[in-house]
Amino acid sequence: MTVSVVLFTSDLRLHDHPPLRAAVRQTDETVPLFVRDPAVDRAGFAAPNRLAFLADCLADLDSGLRERGGRLVVRSGDTVAEVCAVARQADAAEVHLAAGHTVFARAREDRLRHALESDGRRLHVHDAVTTVVPPGEVTPQGSDHFAVFTPYFRRWSAVPLRTPHPAPRAVHVPSGPRSERLPARAAVAGVSAGLATGGETEGRRRLGNWLSRHADAYGTGHDDLAGDTTSRLSPYLHFGAVSATEAVHRARSRGGPGAEAFVRQLCWRDFHQQVLAARPETAHEDYRPRHDRWRRGAEAEADLRAWREGRTGYPVVDAALRQLAHEGWMHNRGRLLTASFLTKTLYLDWRDGARHFLDLLVDGDIAENQLNWQWVAGTGTDTRPHRVLNPVLQAKRYDPDGAYVRRWVPELAELPGRSIHEPWRLKGLDRAAYDYPEPLVDLADGLARFRAARDR
Ligand code: FAD
Repeated sequence: MTVSVVLFTSDLRLHDHPPLRAAVRQTDETVPLFVRDPAVDRAGFAAPNRLAFLADCLADLDSGLRERGGRLVVRSGDTVAEVCAVARQADAAEVHLAAGHTVFARAREDRLRHALESDGRRLHVHDAVTTVVPPGEVTPQGSDHFAVFTPYFRRWSAVPLRTPHPAPRAVHVPSGPRSERLPARAAVAGVSAGLATGGETEGRRRLGNWLSRHADAYGTGHDDLAGDTTSRLSPYLHFGAVSATEAVHRARSRGGPGAEAFVRQLCWRDFHQQVLAARPETAHEDYRPRHDRWRRGAEAEADLRAWREGRTGYPVVDAALRQLAHEGWMHNRGRLLTASFLTKTLYLDWRDGARHFLDLLVDGDIAENQLNWQWVAGTGTDTRPHRVLNPVLQAKRYDPDGAYVRRWVPELAELPGRSIHEPWRLKGLDRAAYDYPEPLVDLADGLARFRAARDR
C-alpha cells in the first residue's frame, strides 16, 4: 500500500489541481491536509473576512472530497511539524505541494523539504498551480523579472499552458490521521455583512455564469461602477478555489474582446506575483523611490481616519470605501480612485491605505494589493507615475447617473442626477439637512501640494 499527503495552501480546490492529481495517480491512498498555522496569521493573513471565506472554502473542499469517498484533514500548529506528523502516522512516502512565491512560502517549503528528507520522505513541489505562469518563467534579457506590463503580457501570452485537469473521481484517504473540527464561518467575529460565500462550488458557478452572461460586455463595461459586471472572482482566485489556468482556458475558448480583456487582467495578477517574487522587499518598500515626504502629524491622521471611514466629502471616494467595509470587496475602479485620492490628493503614505485594504479585503493579497497600491502611488511599475485621478471627473465618467453613489452614500440619495458627485456646488442646498462632510481638501490645492512635494 503506497500513501501520499497533499498539503493544500492557496489552492483550495479539486479541479485542475496538479498536486492532488499526481498524488491520487501515484499512490493508493492520499491524505488531503490543511494546516492552520499561527505563523500565517502573524504574517498578516488573519483578517476576519479572509478567515470567514477560508472557513467556507475548507467546508466546501471537505464536502467535495466526501463526495469522492474521502475527507479533509485539518490540523493546527506549525505546518512543517504537522505535515511530518501526518506523513509519519499515515506512513506516506511522498508529500505534494503547490509552489508558493512569497518569502514566507519559500522558507516554509525549504524547511518542509529538509524535515521530510531527514525522515526518509520526499517533497514534490508543483508549479503553475496558484499562477498561470510561474514567477521567473519568462524574464527579459538581463533581469530576473519584468518591470513593465505590456512586454510581460506579450511573453506571458505565448507560454503554452497545460490542459486543465478534471477533479479526481475518487480520493481514498487512510483512516489513521484524525482531523480537527473544521473552522466555522459563524465563529469568526467582525465579518463584513455583505461578504460573499467562499468555496470552489460557488467559484465555479460564478466563473461559468460570468463567462456566459457578462464576458462579452466586459471590454466596455468593466469600469461601470454601478453596473458591477466584473467577474468578482478575485477572492476565489486568491484562495485558489478557482484555477487561474482554467479561467484563462475557458475565456480563450469563449473568445471575443471581452474574454480577451479578462485574460489580460489575469495576466496582471501574474505580473505582480513575479515582481514580488523577485523583489520581496516591495511589499513594504517603494519599488521606485520617489523620495516622497508623505504628510504626517495630527491633520494627516485625521484625514486618514476620514478616508477609512468613507467621510472625505467626495461622494464617489466615500461610496467605494463604504462598499469595502460592507462587502470586504471593492470594484477595481473604486480601488484606483480611492488609492489615488489617498496618495496624491491627500498625499498620505500608500502603506497606510494598503494596510486598511488588507484589513478588509477578502481577496487581500500581498503581491496584488501592495503592488497595485504602489502602481497608483507612482512608486511602482506605472509608466505614468505622476498621474492624478480627479474623483469628480472619474465619478461623472464611471458613475454617470450617480447610481453607485446613491447605493453606498444614502444620505445623498435624494440629490438630483449628476449633482450628487459635487454636492458642494448645489446652490440653495440646506447643508445642515445632510449629515455629509465638506470636502477634506480642494482638488486644486491637493494637486498643487502633490506636485510641489513629489520629487520629479
Ligand atoms: P475582474 O475585472 O473580473 O478581473 C479578473 C481577475 O483578474 C481578478 O479577479 C483578478 O484576479 C485579476 N485582476 C484584475 N485586475 C487586476 C489588477 N489590477 N492587478 C492584479 N490582478 C488583477 N486584487 C486582488 O486580487 N487582491 C488585492 O489585494 C488587490 N488589491 C488592489 C489594490 C488596489 C489599490 C488596486 C488598484 C487594485 C487591487 N487589486 C487587487 C486588483 C483588482 O482591483 C481586483 O483584482 C479586482 O477588482 C477584482 O475584481 P474582479 O474579480 O471582479 O476582477
